[in-house]
Amino acid sequence: MVHDRKSALALVEALSRELYINGRWRESSTGARYSVHNPADGSAITEVADASVADAQDALAAAHAAQRDWGATTSRYRAELLRRVFDRIIERTEDFAALISLEMGKPLAEARGEVAYGAEFLRWFSEQAAHLTGSYAPAPNGGYRIVTAKQPVGPSLLITPWNFPLAMATRKIGAALAAGCTCLVKPAPQTPLTLALLMQICHELDVPAGVVNYLPTLDAAAQSRALMDDARLRKVSFTGSTGVGSILLRQAADRVLRTSMELGGNGPFIVFDDAELDAAVDGAMLAKMRNAGESCVAANRFLVHEAIAEEFTERLVRRFEELVVGDAFDPASAVGPLIDAKQLDKVTELVDDAVARGARIRVGGKALGGNGYFYRPTVLTEVPGTARIAHEEIFGPVAAVTTFSTEEQALERANATEFGLAGYVYTRDLSRALRFAERLETGMVGVNRGLVSDPGGPFGGVKASGLGREGGASGIEEYLETKYLAVQL
Ligand code: NAD
Repeated sequence: MVHDRKSALALVEALSRELYINGRWRESSTGARYSVHNPADGSAITEVADASVADAQDALAAAHAAQRDWGATTSRYRAELLRRVFDRIIERTEDFAALISLEMGKPLAEARGEVAYGAEFLRWFSEQAAHLTGSYAPAPNGGYRIVTAKQPVGPSLLITPWNFPLAMATRKIGAALAAGCTCLVKPAPQTPLTLALLMQICHELDVPAGVVNYLPTLDAAAQSRALMDDARLRKVSFTGSTGVGSILLRQAADRVLRTSMELGGNGPFIVFDDAELDAAVDGAMLAKMRNAGESCVAANRFLVHEAIAEEFTERLVRRFEELVVGDAFDPASAVGPLIDAKQLDKVTELVDDAVARGARIRVGGKALGGNGYFYRPTVLTEVPGTARIAHEEIFGPVAAVTTFSTEEQALERANATEFGLAGYVYTRDLSRALRFAERLETGMVGVNRGLVSDPGGPFGGVKASGLGREGGASGIEEYLETKYLAVQL
């Protein structure tokens, strides 16, 4: 059933809004709850349990107790269980989409896209689970054999952001479970409801007690500190800002924990003068406006060859003008609100700062007004290098266009950032595309393509954008250790 806002709220009422620990729903030990808001109008949707540190420790005890049996299950069993979760998510696409739209704000059509993308990680990792391999080889200098086998890392803390409430979690949960790790999932405080439904499905499908635990909290710092100080935890996987990622890396150092970090980006989008302009504009719309720009792989800095800059900008402006900004449940909406007042203030500040320093607004340039956190799709040109927007991640529907004249200049500017998550390059010249992509200091490059995210591709960054890869053939490795046996014959 396709939901409207009223039926989506009824769906929330039917959902357990407690913690999920050791296969049971339960209240927070302190009885604390907090409100979840709809970013389209700031209204309270509901309240959810706020996990205390003691709750998190209970969940870790459960995950630790379940680890041995879960790690010893056959990979075929884990594969089939993940596949059933995938099927159930797909069956309940409309329910997941409604929850995502309600708590995060993206239009229903986009939320459905996230459900398909998010579910796909479970299918992908179900296929990976059944293909775990080891090796057997003669030692180069001796009469013994080198045998290797993969083993699960152990109980893992998975901390997720609000921008893709389902997909950022399934990309971790799928890999962890496929590898044989138990886990504790900490959703972003803004978006706990989507994962409450996922937990319900795990429960219905008999995922064993303690294998998946769910701990929404307003005090993420205290929770992660306590869990990471505990010898039973073996791994932290985090998606979010670089600032929090570096705090977690410092904490992880104390106990030499395994880590995976998916952090901030500052994606360059380069358009050469021989690019196919229609494709470049389509790609720009996708790379910039997917999720209202609230994506870590969003195009942040448009670098366009001076010969085509005006034409590219005019076409982009026309496309931005056509975008309808509005409530997720209005079928006409193409762009939803930003997540909260803080994010709206940040986007407003970055645009105002650029304009004060001489940038020109070609379309948009301000918030929509009203109670929701909507910002108008905005194109800026003549953005000076001193503007904050030229260096900081925007995380909003704002395209800042600057020009270049040579390939070297484009490369130098594209790489002039501490971040290195995704970049995009548009040119018809294959040699130039590959040459440029190889020298771009990012973990991912879209070549004549504005979307890189795919469960089958290794997602991750270089420089301050992170450590490790999620999805792709190597995604499961983040949750595996290699055990080496030296076998004397
Ligand atoms: P954030 O880093 O504040 O929050 C992300 C998550 O970390 C949330 O679950 C939050 O509760 C938790 N958290 C916050 N402080 C913590 C602490 N001290 N210890 C443990 N957990 C803590 O980020 P945000 O503002 O919610 O999200 C925006 C940022 O996330 C952007 O910079 C964006 O680039 C980044 N992001 C990156 C990716 C990626 O895949 N690389 C994906 C989405 C978002």
